[in-house]
Amino acid sequence: MSGFPLPPNATIGIVGGGQLGRMSAMAAARLGYRCHVLTPEADSPAGQVSAAVTLGGFTDPATLRRFAEAVDVISFEFENVSAEGLDLLASIRPVRPAPSVLRISQDRIDEKTFLNAAGVATAPWRSVETMAELEAAVAVLGLPSVLKTTRLGYDGKGQAMLRSAEDLAPAFERLQPKPLILEGFVDFAQEISVVIARGADGSMAAFDTVENRHANHILDLTLAPARIPGAADEMAQAIARRVAEALDLVGLLAVEMFLDAQGRVLANEIAPRPHNSGHWTIDACPASQFEMHVRAVAGLPLPPATRHADAVMKNLIGPEGMALWPAAVAEPGLIPHLYGKTEALPGRKMGHVTRLFPRGALPGDLGVEAALGPLLSPLLSPLGVIA
Ligand code: AMP
Repeated sequence: MSGFPLPPNATIGIVGGGQLGRMSAMAAARLGYRCHVLTPEADSPAGQVSAAVTLGGFTDPATLRRFAEAVDVISFEFENVSAEGLDLLASIRPVRPAPSVLRISQDRIDEKTFLNAAGVATAPWRSVETMAELEAAVAVLGLPSVLKTTRLGYDGKGQAMLRSAEDLAPAFERLQPKPLILEGFVDFAQEISVVIARGADGSMAAFDTVENRHANHILDLTLAPARIPGAADEMAQAIARRVAEALDLVGLLAVEMFLDAQGRVLANEIAPRPHNSGHWTIDACPASQFEMHVRAVAGLPLPPATRHADAVMKNLIGPEGMALWPAAVAEPGLIPHLYGKTEALPGRKMGHVTRLFPRGALPGDLGVEAALGPLLSPLLSPLGVIA
């Protein structure tokens, strides 16, 4: 086993075989590292570009042990590994980010408790175990509000918007397991995020704040940089730094935030791994979020997270996304990325496309529409409408 910084040819273990692992492994290869992926999927996006794969689930102790013993350091592209599994991995090799960080991000109540304790504002929230608690929470937070599962929710799954008193009982019955979390509805002007890396020495590198647009609860577009007031931008950057420090993060983290109608910035979620809203950095930054991730995990110095261009990133989702692929590779100026997934299931992230603009020249909504040309989702036209 190697010490830090990892020497060339050391092996980084990545838990999870998806596109985040794939792009991390590609960045690692460029820095002379090998990746070894743990995934149950025989032909996974990350496995296709990695030196080795341990095929197996995330719960079997023998599989976890075999994987850990084959690598020099362990990181994640998939967060939902059990607490016991994390402890087992950490007993064999350094795990970056630490299991304590993953645990906080795995549970919305732990996450919000942690954020508020760190002085970071969130939507007001209440933990809800029973129907009576839900009624009491709605009496305080009002309607509309958003009821969510605390674990394993993503891309809008495991949540229900409560608009009227009749919505409470069906949503409470449907969402499992309990406890749930009720969040006050944020009348947001924009959804924004910051991706930040932090090294073991406490050095940090934060990418510029970006603006995210969703379609059907899935990220559709990221605009870099976010077109928000300077004060909100500073607040978003300060929140990301505060979160990374309070977690004692070693690795990379995304903080998803709302910019509300009053100009306040509220944290929504943290993801201690590369993030979809950071994919634009591959093409627009000297060191991408994936390179920063690898550097932080390997103990290499973190360069400044500078951006040499403005960018728009569009996800290619499901069969509709794949239908855009011929246009994505044909259109001059579009930078296409495909993740190697064989089945284009509905809602599945198949790839993305980046368009760069000279730094400072990110156009307004109409210009972005024109620049994406054949790729623009009809759901988002005109661009200002959040579907
Ligand atoms: P999440 O799974 O927490 O990332 O939520 C998915 C999406 O639902 C967010 O990106 C928002 O568009 C919306 N959403 C979540 N929580 C709230 C909230 N408290 N108020 C308003 N919209 C929300």
